[in-house]
Amino acid sequence: MKNKTILLFFILLIGSLVSCNLNDYSRQLGVVNTKEKYAFQVEKNDYKLMVDLKEVATDFIFDIRYATKNNFTGEKIYPSNDAFLRKYIAEDLKKANDSLMKLGYQLKILDAYRPYSATIKFYEIYPDGDFVANPMVGSRHNRGTTVDVTLVDRKTGEDLEMPTKFDVFTKEAHPNFDDLPPHIIENKMLLINVMKHFKFDVHPNEWWHYDHARWQRYPMMDLTFKQIKDVAESYKEEEYDLSL
Ligand SMILES: [Zn+2]
Repeated sequence: MKNKTILLFFILLIGSLVSCNLNDYSRQLGVVNTKEKYAFQVEKNDYKLMVDLKEVATDFIFDIRYATKNNFTGEKIYPSNDAFLRKYIAEDLKKANDSLMKLGYQLKILDAYRPYSATIKFYEIYPDGDFVANPMVGSRHNRGTTVDVTLVDRKTGEDLEMPTKFDVFTKEAHPNFDDLPPHIIENKMLLINVMKHFKFDVHPNEWWHYDHARWQRYPMMDLTFKQIKDVAESYKEEEYDLSL
């Protein structure tokens, strides 16, 4: 009898551990996972609207790596070469780019909003919380408040030389790693300082990753690019209606 009770206890314990899966984390984190919920939030607070960076400015360069196989997963994760951010955050990024353009450089966008389900996928492939966000916590990319960027020389059209390539998870990628040739430190510090001036803080392990100072105001999301686009479009139509 006693053995049966112990056995039953273990069966229940294993059952509860299995059921505490990634969907439960998503619920605990308050991840917004329906278009209706997101549209409702935007209606209440329009600063929560996500906008297409291509519509915010024509001067960004786009190389959304997760829309290609050229990323650390070796898989195409996103359906299109699109980049979305919350509207005021996108405007701050535009200001940073305008300022860099005056100096002869341009921002190249490598990643922006990332659906929560993509964060789960990344962690399954590379389960190291120092570089890839743990789904128990989520990524600030899920909030539409974060971008991965590098710099391009406007004259040559070439990327500036940086400490590492994108998504190289080594100590050389840490912003404070300074055992590097002076011109590389200069390039890295130019990017970090201009981004900082426009309210984007660099990640302690990744020179390319920047979180907007107001990231905490925005919830994580698990909506597809198409769902994000649909809400942005309907919002534009609504604005048009109001102007009539
Ligand atoms: Zn990032």
